[in-house]
Amino acid sequence: MSRFFDQVTGERREAELEERSSLSPSQANQRLILLASNESPYGPSPKALAAAQDALADSHRYPDPDSRELRARLAADLEVRPAQIVVSAGSAALLSLIAGALLEPGLNAITAACTFVVYAAATQATGANLIRVPMKFDRLDLEGILAAVTPQTRLVFIANPNNPTGTIVGVDELEAFLERIPAHVFVVLDEAYHDYAEHFSQLRNIPYSRSLDHVRQGRPVVVLRTFSKVHGLAALRIGYGIGPSALMEFVANSQDTFSVSTAAQAAALAALDDVEHVAFGVKQNALQIAWLSEELARLGWRVAPAWGNFLFCEVDGNTGAIVTRLREEGILIRPMESWGALGCVRIAAGTEEENRILVDVLRKLRAE
Ligand SMILES: *Cc1c(COP(=O)(O)O)cnc(C)c1O
Repeated sequence: MSRFFDQVTGERREAELEERSSLSPSQANQRLILLASNESPYGPSPKALAAAQDALADSHRYPDPDSRELRARLAADLEVRPAQIVVSAGSAALLSLIAGALLEPGLNAITAACTFVVYAAATQATGANLIRVPMKFDRLDLEGILAAVTPQTRLVFIANPNNPTGTIVGVDELEAFLERIPAHVFVVLDEAYHDYAEHFSQLRNIPYSRSLDHVRQGRPVVVLRTFSKVHGLAALRIGYGIGPSALMEFVANSQDTFSVSTAAQAAALAALDDVEHVAFGVKQNALQIAWLSEELARLGWRVAPAWGNFLFCEVDGNTGAIVTRLREEGILIRPMESWGALGCVRIAAGTEEENRILVDVLRKLRAE
């Protein structure tokens, strides 16, 4: 089981290192433009950094294993009980914990064919089967997922917005889906890009998510959120899940003690307080996503409607050649071959300057 995990994460790490180390020495010194991992280009909130710095002075003390202060804060903000929240070392860690709680050999989990890779890793680590339902073009096929449910199904993973395609599941569509999902199945709603999507929802006047209503109504739904994206704390490893208290307490008990550092807990609390930093991040992101979408479409690329901080594109030309040439220029983007999306790439929106450089290089490549 663990060998599988090692293999998957090992391969990904190697691929990442490969991307960085294959630059020429002079380029390795130059600042890279990192658009391959959907990170925030604006960095963490200075307030979160200061809080983490203060917390470091207490590094000789073990952290609060239950993240009580952060959970109380989140519970108040989200109008749920603290017992319904688990804080973990990144939301990806929660995927493994939830899979571990619900799956075993002979059972199965369902997800989409083109989605977050960790769902497969977390499922396969338990020895359970993963059923991958084909996409409906760039979107998740909830009807297809319902049709795939068997008596052995215990979990469905839905990324909303979906990574890598960036599309969302409609509010009514999800409601209808949850009405029909059988009682023996838990649904994980992974909302890693929640703040970006919420902002787009207001701009576009299209409803995005009522996920917490479902949790408050006591449905078998677990909502996942993270501080890795708009809050800019990916390296500190902190995320959380909100779900039925019985499952969440079980998950909390199966978690490694002290897995979330004091610095991460303090930074997360301060990041929640720094509403301006988040507001800046989502607003700037929306501007950059709109600009980049237009520019890439002008190059003849097909760009999926984006609800996160990244674009899923079908390129005009050879993806391998484009990714390689960009890498030579110090720009990293993600080719989508291993997701089965041939001819496609995923590009995180960088800062205005980074995006201009990207588009300039792509224009130059096209002219070659
Ligand atoms: C980035 C991302 C996460 C966040 O993972 P962390 O472990 O919290 O850093 C979770 N789900 C999806 C779909 C993501 O794209």
